[in-house]
Amino acid sequence: MPEVIAPPALPAESPASSPAVVGALQRYFGFDSLREGQAEALQALLEPRDVLVVMPTGAGKSLVYQLAACLMQGGVTVVISPLIALMKDQVDGLTARGIPAVGVNSSQSAREQEAALEAVARGAVRMIYVAPERLRSPRFMRAVTAVGVNVLAVDEAHCVSQWGHDFRPDYRTIADARRRMGHPPCVALTATATPRVQDDIVTQLGLHEPTRLVTGFNRPNLSFVVRSTPTLREKRSALKTFLSEHEDEAGLIYVATRKEADKLTRFVSEECRRPVRMYHAGMPDAERSDVQDEFMGGRVDLVVATNAFGMGIDRADVRFVAHWSVPGNLESYYQEAGRAGRDGLPATAVLFYAPSDRSLREWFIEQNAPDSGSLRALFHAAQRQARDGTVDAEPEHLIEAADLHPVGGRVALGLLEKVGALERLDPGAPERSWRIGPWDARKAEKVLDGVERLRKAKTDDLDRMIGYAESGQCRRRIILDHFGDTAEAVSDACCDNCDVQARLKSKPPGVLPSFDTLPMQSRIAIGLLDAVQRLPWNAGRRTLVKMLTGSRAEGMARYEQSPYFGRLSSMSQGEVDGHYKQLILHGYLRIKGGEYPVVELTALGKQAIAHREVISLDVAETKKVRRKRAVEDAHLSDDDRALFEDLRTWRTETARALGVPPYVVLSDRTLTAIASERPQTVADLLGVKGIGPVKADVYSEAIIERVRKG
Ligand code: ADP
Ligand code: MG
Repeated sequence: MPEVIAPPALPAESPASSPAVVGALQRYFGFDSLREGQAEALQALLEPRDVLVVMPTGAGKSLVYQLAACLMQGGVTVVISPLIALMKDQVDGLTARGIPAVGVNSSQSAREQEAALEAVARGAVRMIYVAPERLRSPRFMRAVTAVGVNVLAVDEAHCVSQWGHDFRPDYRTIADARRRMGHPPCVALTATATPRVQDDIVTQLGLHEPTRLVTGFNRPNLSFVVRSTPTLREKRSALKTFLSEHEDEAGLIYVATRKEADKLTRFVSEECRRPVRMYHAGMPDAERSDVQDEFMGGRVDLVVATNAFGMGIDRADVRFVAHWSVPGNLESYYQEAGRAGRDGLPATAVLFYAPSDRSLREWFIEQNAPDSGSLRALFHAAQRQARDGTVDAEPEHLIEAADLHPVGGRVALGLLEKVGALERLDPGAPERSWRIGPWDARKAEKVLDGVERLRKAKTDDLDRMIGYAESGQCRRRIILDHFGDTAEAVSDACCDNCDVQARLKSKPPGVLPSFDTLPMQSRIAIGLLDAVQRLPWNAGRRTLVKMLTGSRAEGMARYEQSPYFGRLSSMSQGEVDGHYKQLILHGYLRIKGGEYPVVELTALGKQAIAHREVISLDVAETKKVRRKRAVEDAHLSDDDRALFEDLRTWRTETARALGVPPYVVLSDRTLTAIASERPQTVADLLGVKGIGPVKADVYSEAIIERVRKG
């Protein structure tokens, strides 16, 4: 039986602001006061009560149990943490502060481990850090129960929940270990837990009527931006622009896959001309830690990474975190985005969103949820290859023989083991030999039910993430609500949606400019927006483009009644599409929906129509646009323009007769120059830019004749 736990040093009514607490805080940590949430958590823990602390990374969760450990008389505080790498830092830090602490983990020699446990059993340390696997070690349990566990702290507590993003089965053994420790008060801490995960933590750890502290999620210095970038090309150009607006700033760009990491790193380095490193779990350890060191040391400022990069990354001056595509859920998103602006200075979290990203995420979810057909196929493949009831095979071969995808196949293999249909012969060794077990249909159904529940939950999570990306509401509020943090969503620079709201409000009612006085581009832009507004149903971008250019392609008949049908028939579909892309990028329109995305007007777009705003679009210069620009830039008078048109007609005919493209005859710029300078002689004509002796010789007669006439 474990020793009776020493009562806390403080009586229950002693507030966390008592001299004893403040004294210890100053003596050991050099801090003047507890932060929001810390005081309440500590207070509850000292009562003692179980506590669930949900506060973001950097909020100072560790201090809660570290300070508690300092205040306890007798016993040891056990801290469970999945991150061996971080354990050492914590232990070293505590030791340096005069708080005797040890860590016991598999990276140490047997002798080091024994020495640490002996110190614990002797009562010479206040805190011991272990990974959850350690709870299975009888030697460890003997050592801690010998002195008594005064507080059990479970860090990264979301790992106990299947609904969390980082489920670790070993966390499931904590509740039992806690019983064997004599049921010490337990504080569970996490930075990422939705209300559902919070409930699950409480259940799985067996917390008794815990005090829940969900606070501090608002990061006022972070601004949130979602750029609507429906295609790869738009994403790239948006990222390029974004990077050029954030020169000399440290930032992270998160991608979903290793392949993407590879491609994007090349793009950033070659096209955006920014020094950048890559980080993903498939890289050799040495290279990974090199990237991490270089980034932490400030020698590298930009990293393209998968979600493998981050645990323990706390470089304070990260100015932006960009997401190349939507993560699977808002917790992951916020945790990754939250790596920006740790120093409290303004920072940006930007998401480049394409509705089609959804399918990649859905694919991940599907691969993790094999159906009974895949399980049976894999089981039969194993049976076929078995000799004397055992199979010896590389998992890849089995998976291939069952005709499953490598990713989904792996999951299915794990499930077969769970069902008991395959039994690993040597659980310690890499999986490659199994005993064929019975096919227990009931058990298989149960396991598959669990898989299905998980699939649904993940789909819900994804929906919420997409909801964030597509929402026109305050993004900060969405995030706070998601975590169950009821604090006000205050910030100086909140999010793109709040920006729009502010612009809408600040707009003076004033007199509307007449449509005709607007620059050409704005007239086109507003027309394009209005076309969306007036359609009585939703349409995709391609359809809108076809409608405006007057396409009679199949399915377009119903669009002919729109006043906008064929209104931009002088433009190519590519040009109109380019305009739409720009309107989306600048937030006047957004793309919504999965398989058949539709274009939707944003509040900004509605305002632009209502106020006839000047919209400047940065349209890629297609040939036609170049021509228009050349003509516009020349500021031709009406007469000159008439001459220009006349010259163009002549040029078209000449080009056709010669069988060459028009610009080979004369360029638009040259034509506009002729139209405004009106050369009357060959000498005059030679003075026009773009006319050399050869052209003058061939075309002078025809040109001068038209100039005289015009
Ligand atoms: P979390 O585990 O919540 O991510 P940490 O416990 O690692 O956060 O603490 C983050 C930082 O905040 C640490 O550098 C810590 O020293 C500091 N900190 C914690 N509490 C306080 C406090 N009351 N006053 C000042 N600094 C604090
Ligand atoms: Mg922590």
